[in-house]
Amino acid sequence: MTISVLPKRDELGVKGGQLYIDGVWTDASDGGTWTHKNPATNEEVTTFAVGSAEDVDRAMKAARKAFDEGPWPRMNARDRKAILQRLVGLIYDHKDELAQLQTLDNAIPIAFNSMYQVGAEVTADVFDHHAGWIDKINGDTIPHYTGNELVTLTFREPVGVVAAIIPWNAPLFLFAQKVAPALATGCTVIVKPSEHAALAILRLTEIIEEVGLPPGVLNVIPGPGASTGEALITHPGVDKISFTGSRAVGQHILSVSGDGLKRVSLELGGKSASVNFPDAPDIGLAAMTAMGMVSMGMAGQGCVIQSRALVDKTIYDEFLSAAESLIPMVQYGDPFSYETTSAPLINPRQLDRVMGYIASGQESGARLVAGGDRPGGDLSAGNYVNPTLFADVDNSWPIAREEIFGPVLSVIPFADEDEAIRIANDSPYGLGAGVYTSDIKRAFRVAKAIRAGTIGVNEYAVAPNAPFGGYKTSGLGREGGWPAIEAFTELKTVFVGLQ
Ligand code: NAD
Repeated sequence: MTISVLPKRDELGVKGGQLYIDGVWTDASDGGTWTHKNPATNEEVTTFAVGSAEDVDRAMKAARKAFDEGPWPRMNARDRKAILQRLVGLIYDHKDELAQLQTLDNAIPIAFNSMYQVGAEVTADVFDHHAGWIDKINGDTIPHYTGNELVTLTFREPVGVVAAIIPWNAPLFLFAQKVAPALATGCTVIVKPSEHAALAILRLTEIIEEVGLPPGVLNVIPGPGASTGEALITHPGVDKISFTGSRAVGQHILSVSGDGLKRVSLELGGKSASVNFPDAPDIGLAAMTAMGMVSMGMAGQGCVIQSRALVDKTIYDEFLSAAESLIPMVQYGDPFSYETTSAPLINPRQLDRVMGYIASGQESGARLVAGGDRPGGDLSAGNYVNPTLFADVDNSWPIAREEIFGPVLSVIPFADEDEAIRIANDSPYGLGAGVYTSDIKRAFRVAKAIRAGTIGVNEYAVAPNAPFGGYKTSGLGREGGWPAIEAFTELKTVFVGLQ
C-alpha cells in the first residue's frame, strides 16, 4: 500500500490560501507562493500566498490604525468578552476539521491530534481562559506616600500592535497562546504562521472572521522566516514580538528588536531531563514514558520533550529494557489512520539533522540500544527515522546538550540525588523536567533545585491557566494564566492631586 494524503486534501476541500489583511483575503503583492509538502509523503498538497515586505507593511498599517483609532482597544469588557466567547463555540464546532488540517500541515497522527495537548479542543480552551480575564484586567490603588495628598492608581493597557510568530509543531495551540491574550487585552495582531504549517491557521482565521472582529485587528500572513518573518520583526510599527520557535531565531529577534526597544516574549527550545529514582511509582512506566515522549505523537518534535533520561544506577538495566520494550508500539504510517502513533520529521532538512545527531552520538561513544536508522518500504518517501535509544551517554556530548527534535532518547546514569540535580541543571536550556519518585520530600527538593520553567512530578500536563515558559536559553517571559495578560499589557501610573 502506498500512502497518500491527497484524498484527505480533496475531502477537506483544501484549495490553497491567501493572506488576511485588514479584514480582506488577498494574494501576495508580488504574487509569491509557497508549495506545501506533507512530511509523511513529501507530496505537494497545495500552494498558498506568502507575504512580501509590502504585504507586511500593509498589514502593519491596518493593525496600527485598528489599534490607534479603532474600537477594539476601547471596547467595553462585556462586548469584547462576548466576541471571544462566541469564537470558543465556533472552534469546538470545527474541531475535527481543524485537527485534520493540522495533520495535513505537519503529519502529526490524527489520533494524537485528537488528544488534548495539541488539538483544537485546547485551542478553544485557551481562548475561553483568556476571554475570562477580560473583565478582570484591573489596576491597583496605591497608598499615598508623602507630600501633597494624592490618589495614586495604576491602569493596565494593551501593549499595542503584536507580531506573533509561530512554529509548525503545534500551530493551532500556539496560535491561541499568542492571539487569545493579545485580543483579550485589546491589542491588534499580525500573525506569521510557519511556512511548514499554515493550512489549519488559515482555516481558523476564516472561522474567526465569523465573529466580526473590526478590520485590522487580526491579520495573518504566512511566509518564510527569512523574508516575511524578517520584514515583520524589523518593522518599526511593531510594539511587541511574541515568538515561539528555535533558540537561534529567538536570539536574532532579541538582537534586532533593540532598535525600537520592542517588547519581546520568547518561547524557545529545550533539552529537558527526566530524573528517575529507584522509588519511582512504576519504573517500567517511567521508562516507557521517557521513550514514548520522544517517539510517540510528534516523534520528539516538541519543546518540552524529556529527551535526556537521568537514571539511578541501581535501576539502570531495568529502565533500559522497559524503554526498549516501548519501541515496537511505535507505528508509522498514514497520518490519517487511527493505527498510526507517530509523526515523521517535518522536512528533509530536519531528517538530515537528526541523522547527523545519531552519527554524532555514535562517534562520541554512546551505546546504540535501538534504532539509528530509517524505515524503508512505503515509509521511504516520508521523513521517518526509527525510534533511537542511546545508553551510557555523557552529559557533555552534543546529543545530551543540543535539541535534536527527533525520536532520540539519551540515557545518562547517576549515583545519587545531588549528582542527578547537577546533571539536570548542566544544560544551556531550562524549559521543563520530570521527577519520578514516590517520596514527596524528594519530589519537592528536586523540583525546587532544577532550574526549569515547568516540572512534572510523575506526570506532565499542558493547561491554559498554568504559566509556561523557559529559564536560561529556553525563553523570556511566560504564556498562560495571568502572566500572559501581563505580557500583553503596559502598566501606567496616574497621580491625582487632591489639593
Ligand atoms: P524556527 O525558529 O525555525 O521557526 C519558528 C518561526 O519563526 C517560523 O514561523 C519561522 O518561519 C519563523 N522565522 C524563522 N526565521 C525568522 C526570522 N529571521 N525572522 C522572523 N521569523 C523567523 O522553529 P521551528 O523549526 O518552526 O520550530 C521548532 C522550534 O520551536 C524548536 O526549537 C522548539 O523547541 C521550539 N518550540 C518552542 C515551544 C515553546 O513553547 N517553548 C513550543 C513549540 C516549539
